[in-house]
Amino acid sequence: MTGLMDTHFHTQAMARKGVDVEKLLQDLFSAGFAGGIDVGTECDDLPLRADRLAPYPRIKLSAGIGPWGVDYGREPIDAQIGTMVAAIERYTTDCIGEIGLDAYWKYGTPALQEELFIRQIELADTLDLPIIIHNRDADERTGEILKAHPPKRGGILHCFSATMDLAEIALERGFYISFAGTITYKKNGYLRDILRDLPLERVLLETDSPYLSPEPLRGTVNTPLRMPFIYDVAATVRQMPVSELAQAIRTNFATLFSADRTF
Ligand SMILES: [Zn+2]
Repeated sequence: MTGLMDTHFHTQAMARKGVDVEKLLQDLFSAGFAGGIDVGTECDDLPLRADRLAPYPRIKLSAGIGPWGVDYGREPIDAQIGTMVAAIERYTTDCIGEIGLDAYWKYGTPALQEELFIRQIELADTLDLPIIIHNRDADERTGEILKAHPPKRGGILHCFSATMDLAEIALERGFYISFAGTITYKKNGYLRDILRDLPLERVLLETDSPYLSPEPLRGTVNTPLRMPFIYDVAATVRQMPVSELAQAIRTNFATLFSADRTF
């Protein structure tokens, strides 16, 4: 675990699935965890996460409303963004996300998903923060939106499961491509191929805990303690030692969050 980062996890959702988050954080840092990002999914989840994670400065915080925010019966977009902005004004926020499109679950309508996505790209630009993109089965529209509204500070294409085309559109706009435990699944050779071919200085690794547990623990509640399974596969794919890969990920992460970087 020493020196490993996890660039995308959800402490709130882990707690809901029965994980003792306080103990998890202690276990992680006593095992040498290098930190990462606790990712928001709803307009009102920042305060609780910020309080819980205040003692852990190596964990960055994002705030964002995913495409599920426009599902039927939800509050209007304006009200949700208002709630989130009020929280961002009170708590340190390092990036905006996860935000994006999900054509698999088809929340609300495609037009509403896009409006919520674009409004939050604009918010990130106003705040001079990077974004974290959720894209499920919406490669084409995600690419078009990135071209029409290129986020000023770039960001992360999280849990990458798309085509090399979308990866290239994102790379050209200063993005990092983050791979999750899905790279350990046997059928996902195409993801391992993309991971092998990308410039190393744009690669990140994540668990997306509590989701997407890597092999051999697939189907169970995931935590960042399972990062070694993902790093092992990624290091084999990249044909380099885990320690060198971990160093590269830490450098990429630091570069993403330094405000004066240039693409
Ligand atoms: Zn996530």
